[in-house]
Amino acid sequence: MLALQGAFALHLQAIDRLAATGLAVRGVPVKTAAELAECDALIMPGGESTTMSMLLDSQELFAPLKKAIHGGLPVFGTCAGMILLSSEILDGRSDQNCFEALDIKVRRNAYGAQVESFETALSVDGLDEPFHAVFIRAPGVEALGAGVEVVSKHQEEPVMCRSGSVLACSFHPELTNDDRLHRLFLESIAGATSSGKATG
Ligand code: GLN
Repeated sequence: MLALQGAFALHLQAIDRLAATGLAVRGVPVKTAAELAECDALIMPGGESTTMSMLLDSQELFAPLKKAIHGGLPVFGTCAGMILLSSEILDGRSDQNCFEALDIKVRRNAYGAQVESFETALSVDGLDEPFHAVFIRAPGVEALGAGVEVVSKHQEEPVMCRSGSVLACSFHPELTNDDRLHRLFLESIAGATSSGKATG
């Protein structure tokens, strides 16, 4: 669990709940390259992508993390995490970096300011029942590259996408006690149910 800034604590609780159901997974906070090296997968939380970008640089974590993701480290980015994974950020700060791991163009705060936060039930590929999604200053996906699969839409706009081992959603799946998206991510990782290794 990338734990530099933002909503990482609730994601770690979701991982703990899944571990308690028998899923062979262990969530650990990641703030350094050494901690990252211990992980088989990574979740990037919502929060503030500009701050996270700055902290990734100052912690000397940006370059090793980019290398790991492009080398196949499975990663799930939520909200600000989706912005970090994108290939292009609109309305970003000029010094803000992204990992170019998911071929999408995202616009920061496309769904409006904090006060315009909203909740809605989404239909998500791979889930039988709708998922209650919370959108907070969420990014909008404005362009999708060829290999990007849309896993969920809100009013015809993509809000959850996948490409290979990279998954991203523009909302906050950790804010409810519904762990199905975390489970979906973890179960998509080969060996997650047998190795018992860490999810950062
Ligand atoms: N708008 C925020 C950003 O640019 C993301 C908001 C969120 O993660 N809830 O990073």
